[in-house]
Amino acid sequence: MATALKIVPPEDKVNSFVSRKHKMLIDGKWVDSASGKTFPTYNPATGEVLSYVAEGDREDIDRAVRAARNAFENGPWSRLTPSERGRLIWKLADLLEENLEEFAELESFDNGKPLKIARVADLPLAVDMFRYMAGWATKIEGNTIPISVPYAQGAKFLAYTLREPVGVVGQIIPWNFPLLMAAWKLGPALATGCTVVLKPAEQTPLSALRLGELIQEAGIPDGVVNIVPGYGETAGAALSAHPDVDKVAFTGSTEVGKLILQAAAGNLKKVSLELGGKSPNVVFADVDLDAAIGGAANAIFFNHGQCCCAGSRLYVEKKIFDKVVDGVAEQASKIKVGSGQDDSTDMGPLVSKEQLDRVCGYLESGFSEGAKAVVGGSKTGDKGYFVKPTVLVNTNENMKVVQEEIFGPVVTAIPFEDPAEVVSKANTSVYGLAAGVWTRDIQKAHRIASQLRAGTVWINCYNIFDAALPFGGYKQSGWGREMGHEVLEQYTEVKAVCTQL
Ligand code: ADP
Repeated sequence: MATALKIVPPEDKVNSFVSRKHKMLIDGKWVDSASGKTFPTYNPATGEVLSYVAEGDREDIDRAVRAARNAFENGPWSRLTPSERGRLIWKLADLLEENLEEFAELESFDNGKPLKIARVADLPLAVDMFRYMAGWATKIEGNTIPISVPYAQGAKFLAYTLREPVGVVGQIIPWNFPLLMAAWKLGPALATGCTVVLKPAEQTPLSALRLGELIQEAGIPDGVVNIVPGYGETAGAALSAHPDVDKVAFTGSTEVGKLILQAAAGNLKKVSLELGGKSPNVVFADVDLDAAIGGAANAIFFNHGQCCCAGSRLYVEKKIFDKVVDGVAEQASKIKVGSGQDDSTDMGPLVSKEQLDRVCGYLESGFSEGAKAVVGGSKTGDKGYFVKPTVLVNTNENMKVVQEEIFGPVVTAIPFEDPAEVVSKANTSVYGLAAGVWTRDIQKAHRIASQLRAGTVWINCYNIFDAALPFGGYKQSGWGREMGHEVLEQYTEVKAVCTQL
């Protein structure tokens, strides 16, 4: 007799997952840390502990790297065909999609972001990233190269290149889009045939751990993906310095990116870095005003401003400066700040107390240098880590709030008079991750796009992401690109093979 399938509602699944004492995934087994230590992860809306997670350190990283090395060299993974690899990645995408609601809730609990946003942005983008990369597994090709060899007159050669996986990859990810950043990193590693030790951010380890279960369910062999939660200064530092890791891929602050680079120097492992930003968003007077105002608000307030590409420096042509600033301020005042689990919430809390203090510190610094808040300007609520969406005016390029990455819902608005002036101001930053341009003049739009020193330029839009669109930084915003076929270069070595015929 067939037994009725018991459907477990997502909220029960989430509660039972969250309330577990979490282990780490090494060589296909869920294990405690070698030290037996755990660390807490908090609900940013309340400041209360959500759950305790095994705290990885040097010894755990060591075990995980050994497992990844073994899986890379000896395991079934190394014998799979590209097509089989692609199917496993696709299966993982399907499983993630089937569990979309559960993951959206986990992400909202651990990070604080609104559930309704995680459902439509973080989750579908992560699923799509795995699908996009599943397709690439069978399309990673070398070239045949006609060579001339001046000192071997008359000789004939067949020369070609192979693209081979770089090997064992350490991946260190941030807390702002915990699952999506894991997908951005794991997708290309799996497509190219690498093996991985993934360290999620200590603030938000839960979705990566649950993803670990799906990786097993999908049938990805043991040791291919190892997940070691822990702190940056311990587990992260051990991973980036490890002599048997071939490459480290990092997303996070520019400050930590520089530490990773130093740690990686020991064995000269390959490094890719997606770092901070202070992205200019430039609005010209000929613009569709409503679209630009909505776009400027979205550019800074999406994900509470906790985006490396947040449009945090708003430059508006003088003639329409007051209109745009008032419009963005009005939008800011309508944003409902609250718990991410509440369906009416537009903006949740910042991720941590540390982040709350950091953003409030920047606000004080801005005010002490003469900035004025048109709207917002302070924290809000008597528990949790909430900050009001803020628009600052009376700011200039010499102020800390205009130069440094705040990583919160705070935008500085500055007027400009002509295109050359705004390009020069936009490019003064040490960062170069993204930029926005708003105008109806297509010549001006593309001219300015070519002049801006940034890895992404959005014209009459902002925060548009796609697995096929490469993303990464000029200047101190990083090395290499995430997504698109460009990312595959960071996960492969090129081997030239030359045969005399
Ligand atoms: P944020 O400043 O926004 O919290 P970080 O750059 O500090 O971002 O953190 C991003 C990731 O880098 C996290 O997974 C964190 O644990 C890790 N990390 C922090 N410090 C180090 C370090 N010294 N070495 C390696 N990883 C680190």
